[in-house]
Amino acid sequence: MFCQSCGREIVEPATVCPNCGAPLRGIAPPGASSWKPVEHVSGAWYLLPLFFGIIGGIIAWAVNRDKDPGRARNLLIFGVLWTVIPTVLIASAVFLYYAPAPAPGP
Ligand SMILES: [Zn+2]
Repeated sequence: MFCQSCGREIVEPATVCPNCGAPLRGIAPPGASSWKPVEHVSGAWYLLPLFFGIIGGIIAWAVNRDKDPGRARNLLIFGVLWTVIPTVLIASAVFLYYAPAPAPGP
């Protein structure tokens, strides 16, 4: 027989699909009612924080947090790091470059 969810062939006495975890038809394993198909969140979502930094990370997180909390969190972390790390590097470089000069001011 084949899995109703992912289509992989399953050897019989299995009650759940070894590939995706879906319960097999006609058999109700414990917790079957609470089983939800895992929605695939595309890796293309990483483009959002890549181009828009922390803003893109927050948007990607907000859109995907219900579908895949783990990946949503990674997208947010990626967006934050992708914004903070270059900012810190640039700020450090600017600071080191200008540090010896007297600070302009009144
Ligand atoms: Zn399956």
